[in-house]
Amino acid sequence: MGIVFDIQTYAIYDGPGIRTCVFFKGCPLSCVWCHNPESQRLQPEMGYRADRCAGCGSCVEACPHDALVLEGDGVRRDTGRCVVCGLCEKVCRADAHEKIGYKTSAEAVVEKVIADRPFFTESSGGVTLTGGEPTVQREFLLETAGLLKKSEIHTALETCGHFGKELMPALIDTIDLFLYDIKHADADTHKRFTGVDNRVILENFVSIVRKAGPPRIIPRIPLIPGFNADGASLKGICRFLKEARYEGPVHLMPYNSMAKSKYEKLGRGVQYQNMGELSGDMIDGFVGLVRDNGFEAVINH
Ligand code: SF4
Ligand code: SF4
Repeated sequence: MGIVFDIQTYAIYDGPGIRTCVFFKGCPLSCVWCHNPESQRLQPEMGYRADRCAGCGSCVEACPHDALVLEGDGVRRDTGRCVVCGLCEKVCRADAHEKIGYKTSAEAVVEKVIADRPFFTESSGGVTLTGGEPTVQREFLLETAGLLKKSEIHTALETCGHFGKELMPALIDTIDLFLYDIKHADADTHKRFTGVDNRVILENFVSIVRKAGPPRIIPRIPLIPGFNADGASLKGICRFLKEARYEGPVHLMPYNSMAKSKYEKLGRGVQYQNMGELSGDMIDGFVGLVRDNGFEAVINH
């Protein structure tokens, strides 16, 4: 069994063709710009949209654990009492509560995504396992990827690369394409902004290039103002890719500042950091820089 928080169909930016994305919960990094904060914790959790709440009090009455109180125009959840049963979501007519994350089996996931096979066949697409960081749930990941392989469905893994080396042979055996985040080549900067240093991430990248070959891995650089959206940082990453003997496209994923409401929904509004804006000219400049360093640059979202 594993914990996922969403399954989305018709995705076109998460690997080749039309894809169905399975979002795993849990991540070992804590990037300050994270645009998927609902993916960070491994456990299911409750979200609450204050802007939708009508203050009717139905959820307060329904909660079997006295975890909700009416306060001002809305409700406040005592996370120490809440057991994430999801009952408040069921009784709220305003859709103000949302349970994020649910337990499921690899068989159930594959049964669901297999319904999209005609789209995969027509577009040379498949399934993308993403998150969060899927390797956090290693048994569930390998079981799901194994079943997809048996079903002859192309499987991509979106990964931050921070996983134990012992996982590598099984991943190489089951994953068709690694969509691999390279955030920064400098260990200290990486640690300051993501909570972990980049040594294991860079080593795993080199290992996949050597063992699986460049066509099965695509490095993806999130372009984050104040972190790596500058010439020196991108040159550093290009240098690393050359040293790793990577040859192929580099995907650039420009930052957007639209995650604020997600943090607020989780009651973690103070954690949200707006990293700033990237103009079209700046993005064009980064594309040129990556090309000048010998790689095809692809803007991705
Ligand atoms: S049931 Fe919904 S609308 Fe009513 S108080 Fe609770 S969250 Fe607000
Ligand atoms: S999820 Fe369950 S325990 Fe938590 S606030 Fe809602 S009803 Fe109460």
